[in-house]
Amino acid sequence: MDTMVDLPEWIVRASGQASPQRGRVALVGAGPGDPELLTLRAARLLRDADAVVYDFLVGPEVLDFAGPHAERICAGKRSSRHSMPQHEINALLVRLAREGRRVVRLKGGDPFVFGRGGEEAQALAEAGIDFEIVPGVTAACGVTAYAGIPLTHRDHAQSCLFVTGHMKDDRADLDWPALARERQTVVIYMGLAALGHICAQLVAHGLRADMPAAVVQQGTLPEQRVVTGTLADLPQRVAAAGLTAPCLIVVGEVVQLHHQLAWFGLPAQAAAG
Ligand code: SAH
Repeated sequence: MDTMVDLPEWIVRASGQASPQRGRVALVGAGPGDPELLTLRAARLLRDADAVVYDFLVGPEVLDFAGPHAERICAGKRSSRHSMPQHEINALLVRLAREGRRVVRLKGGDPFVFGRGGEEAQALAEAGIDFEIVPGVTAACGVTAYAGIPLTHRDHAQSCLFVTGHMKDDRADLDWPALARERQTVVIYMGLAALGHICAQLVAHGLRADMPAAVVQQGTLPEQRVVTGTLADLPQRVAAAGLTAPCLIVVGEVVQLHHQLAWFGLPAQAAAG
């Protein structure tokens, strides 16, 4: 009989949750660039959104999934990384939801991977706003797939590590001994500016200087460029190629498979022979 008592309470709580006027926020991953890597759920939420708050990494073709009536608000520009401070973005999301709007907070890649999605979700939770999280293809997965670099491979890497290389100064606080391990792939987001430092530290902590490594610019997009080399020569190769953000760094034996597995766009014209 106890369960008979519990059940109606549960139903009352569940049915009392959704009022049609109530605003809500979806933190949505837009994937790494190619609009076709958007999830079906992301496309549907965009179609139904009243407001879309997006980051600079989100391309115009992805935004086209939003209806013409949706207000589009840019929260970050490529030229100035901090164009809208995080607390202002949080406050904006809360305000839009309180106005009763269906808000899509559209973020490059996956919202919970180096995307501050966790902070935004916390702000929404603290403000009592209904929210959901829609995962996206994170750059580590999407960019390497389009570059023909498998993150793991039974012959080369049994683990992979995603880290951020965004450092305030050269005394980077990365766990170098953990990064400099054999038979693993290291993927570094936001590391282009520190590429020389990163390669030098990995060698200083025990990786061989001829360990294959690559930088992929604008992965999954028609403009994708892949520069491969070794920890010893990658910084010079990348500088010579003039790569610019957004770029992903990949270190590990799997990088050599790019020469065999590159399939997207131009063949690897900048490959390390
Ligand atoms: N949340 C995102 C990451 C945001 S941090 C995700 O899950 O992918 C931004 C960094 O991601 C960039 O500096 C770059 O290192 C990487 N990145 C994102 N898109 C990329 C792309 N198309 N090509 C190369 N790197 C990319």
